[in-house]
Amino acid sequence: MFENLSDRLGGVFDRLTKQGALSEDDVAAAMREVRVALLEADVSLPVARSFVKAVTTKATGAAVTKSITPGQQVVKIVHDELIKVLQGEDAPDALRIDNPPAPILMVGLQGSGKTTTTAKLAKRLADREKKRVLMASLDTQRPAAMQQLAILGQQIGVDTLPIVPGENAVQIAKRAKQQATLGGYDVYMLDTAGRLHIDQVLMDEVQAVRDVAQPRETLLVVDGLTGQDAVNVATEFDGKVGISGVVLTRMDGDGRGGAALSMRAVTGKPIRFVGLGEKMDAIEVFDAHRVAGRILG
Ligand code: GDP
Repeated sequence: MFENLSDRLGGVFDRLTKQGALSEDDVAAAMREVRVALLEADVSLPVARSFVKAVTTKATGAAVTKSITPGQQVVKIVHDELIKVLQGEDAPDALRIDNPPAPILMVGLQGSGKTTTTAKLAKRLADREKKRVLMASLDTQRPAAMQQLAILGQQIGVDTLPIVPGENAVQIAKRAKQQATLGGYDVYMLDTAGRLHIDQVLMDEVQAVRDVAQPRETLLVVDGLTGQDAVNVATEFDGKVGISGVVLTRMDGDGRGGAALSMRAVTGKPIRFVGLGEKMDAIEVFDAHRVAGRILG
């Protein structure tokens, strides 16, 4: 019994690469396993289907040169198709933070890793790009969340907007913009309130904040381990708020690429970063080649 997509595909293609020639039946047999493996990795059914279809068409008609076995050829076709789906065509490779102070809106459900990711990205911008960053928590329902951001800010040496009790999210967003402008910051990050489930109150609040802040980037933070749920959350947020990209957290916890594959295929939105742990440096730019390599094993 294979545990994950990488192992499974690895097993399938290991067998294929040992054969001299690849028949249509071989391709069909391999693709059945690929499909099951994709589904087991929580890739949505339509995505798995269209992926397998594209690969089958290419594999069946493909010319095989002497230097590579038919099995290796299929591996290459699967790999290239994975990259195509994961990467898309329009993925920006850096955050858009021109015209200072550039607002970045962070959205997502509670527990997704939103506050942690806000601080990680702030640290990245400060350390690597030497940007002056201001972070503000808009979670008026949970004083602990505001405190958490302030503590993280101290840890990483990034300023946070002072907490003023009694303000609502829109008021905080306005104050953050004002302080970022007056204080000469390059970027200000708005860490919006999370909820356990998507509800109208959450969406209304996020929309109001968006309208005030006019963010250059709206990043949705989702738990990469929740698979199909993560994709549903992304579809919902994109429809209601409009997102410019996704951050998949907890990608350290599980090697499967299922959520990443479905996310890109279903929402059409690029995965911009992946979270790889609890530490403040545990974040990386999303790398389609690396994920494809991991899926293939
Ligand atoms: P929020 O409610 O969405 O703001 O979530 P938090 O930022 O408070 O994160 C919830 C928990 O997930 C914390 O214990 C984080 O340290 C942890 N966490 C966040 N991102 C990652 C990640 O990429 N990997 C792992 N392993 N844990 C993470």
